Amino acid sequence: MKLKVRFAPSPTGPLHIGGARSALFNYLLARKHNGTFIVRSEDTDIERSSRESEHNILEALRWLGIEWNEGIEVGGENGPYRQTERLELYREYTDKLLAQGHAYHCYCSEEELEQERQELTAKGETPRYLGKCRHLTPEQKAAYEAEGRQPVVRFKVPEGKQILIRDLVRGDVVFESDGIGDYIIVKSDGIPTYNFAVVVDDISMCITHVIRGEEHLSNTPRQVLIYEALGVPVPEFAHISLILNTEGRKMSKRDGDTAVIDYQNKGYLPEAVINFIVLMGWSPPGEEQFFTLEQLADKFALDRVSKSPAVFDLNKLNWINAHYLKEAAPERLAELALPHLRDAGVMPTGEISTEQRAWASAFVQAVIEHVSYLAQVKDYVHYFYGGQALEPDEEAREVLRGEQVPQVLEAFKSKMAESKLVTAEDAKAMLKQLTKELKIGAKFVFMPVRAALTGRVHGPDLDKIIALLGPDDVLHRLETLALL
Ligand code: GLU
Repeated sequence: MKLKVRFAPSPTGPLHIGGARSALFNYLLARKHNGTFIVRSEDTDIERSSRESEHNILEALRWLGIEWNEGIEVGGENGPYRQTERLELYREYTDKLLAQGHAYHCYCSEEELEQERQELTAKGETPRYLGKCRHLTPEQKAAYEAEGRQPVVRFKVPEGKQILIRDLVRGDVVFESDGIGDYIIVKSDGIPTYNFAVVVDDISMCITHVIRGEEHLSNTPRQVLIYEALGVPVPEFAHISLILNTEGRKMSKRDGDTAVIDYQNKGYLPEAVINFIVLMGWSPPGEEQFFTLEQLADKFALDRVSKSPAVFDLNKLNWINAHYLKEAAPERLAELALPHLRDAGVMPTGEISTEQRAWASAFVQAVIEHVSYLAQVKDYVHYFYGGQALEPDEEAREVLRGEQVPQVLEAFKSKMAESKLVTAEDAKAMLKQLTKELKIGAKFVFMPVRAALTGRVHGPDLDKIIALLGPDDVLHRLETLALL
């Protein structure tokens, strides 16, 4: 049978790292087995769902390079792919379950249900619905309806049954049907609940493998019971572990950015995010840690997905991203750095001239090995841009107090004044020449010049700084240096 998997986000916010991981694992498995990957939308929570969130989720998937064969915006033979557009289908399945006695209408009011919950809790039992409306006569139903009560549809949970889930990641997990209680599959407004709609979707789309977050494991027995009641085969399940922060707690907003778009906006590369995400749960067979999507599509398999919790380690993401930044083409990096340079106020919002683009490109190349993600290039702008250096820090002051410093800076200044310096090579040659003429150690030239031009004793290559500042800004920086 052809493998068919799906990603079914609820469009109630941006795509989170955990969701992206579920999508990725499904996508990779489909690619590996020449299967079909479907993306659909669980939008039945009308209040919280929006088309805007749906769009953002799809854009984030595309940014990551995760494409789907079938689903929203792509189409396919099992559409529509939004649950709110599939209500008719859920009604058909509801009617079937009702007709076969696997489901029934329940007219209990919120107060009655609350009373039942309290009574069970008082007895030390799990609060659950005990099936009061299971055997209503047509007269009782009519009476409730005459009162204006709108029924929900509940699934009739079989008693004394063990539900075995052979999870491809977690192994065999057994649930008892007795603790479950008859649960609602259609709300009084006619909208199906998650556990029901997801099963109807998976059946009607012929899904063979359900790969999703561990938080859905406890829903799975409820879903399995519906498959069994309908007499259709149950798909394979694989529940992938929670993502914890480095302190071992469940990842939350408080741990920083959890949405894929946050990383996109900060200038992480999609190939790095993919590589990072796949390693949260999947361990590669060898020592290699860097994989392209293509390589993953070949190597990925569920048997190397761990059931221990995955850890979100930002340092690891930064390390992976720094690796990909070093490999990326200069033009691509310059383009990706533009929003950050605009943010820093050193590039115009509109059109960029050829010179400005060349400057951006040279700048990014000069700092790329110092940054983990592109938003960090902003921290380096002060070295390379404008006629004013940072106020010298303590170390820089110390250097600038050196005995030979005024002489060195004077000599450097006159060299600069006569040069039409453009390239870093020129700057390098000039500093070398200066060292030779002054007959002092290179350090006694480079350090004061660096301290004077940048207010710091460390930083990117000095020759690149000089080249990117250009003679005017270099001279201006020297002239405005507070210590001279
Ligand atoms: N809408 C659910 C979620 O986003 C889908 C769960 C599933 O894949 O069954 O978690």
